[in-house]
Amino acid sequence: MTIRPIITLPDPKLRLVSKPVERVDDPLVRLIDDMIQTMHEAPGIGLAAIQIAEPIRLLVVDIAKTDEPRAPQVFVNPEILWRADERSTYEEGCLSIPEYYAEVERPAAVRARYIDRDGRPQEILAEGLLATVLQHEIDHLDGVLFIDHISKLKRDRVIKKFTKAAKRASEGAPAL
Ligand SMILES: [Zn+2]
Repeated sequence: MTIRPIITLPDPKLRLVSKPVERVDDPLVRLIDDMIQTMHEAPGIGLAAIQIAEPIRLLVVDIAKTDEPRAPQVFVNPEILWRADERSTYEEGCLSIPEYYAEVERPAAVRARYIDRDGRPQEILAEGLLATVLQHEIDHLDGVLFIDHISKLKRDRVIKKFTKAAKRASEGAPAL
């Protein structure tokens, strides 16, 4: 297993619409294992393939608490079938937008279908944190970031900050 570099804002790849996975084969399972290790190492509770520059519809999630055993879940070609009318708000962050957090309101529950790491079709009713993480990660597959759900003013500010930092880094100036 390999820890893969995570791309960050303003990398334009984060805006790509990822392509469906055609088959769950050995190379895909190796990629899944790399993603799980990369997510655990970060540490994060979800990672979409595009965050390691692979534009395919694949994501991994692990919402186990730090004192609980790890419990990674794999979602290949996930699709939301139903969203609850009820909304819930979580303070979200993203491994591709490091150290930035903002409250995002989303449907409190969703039903989704997906393919598991054995290639079998599955359905899940996700509530609470899992519902939020799944929606956040599925957004990534469509090039949508959690900052797209906050005010334009706040979004423009965070994009500007990351764009400036990337420019400084490319000029070799020390990051402050
Ligand atoms: Zn994210």
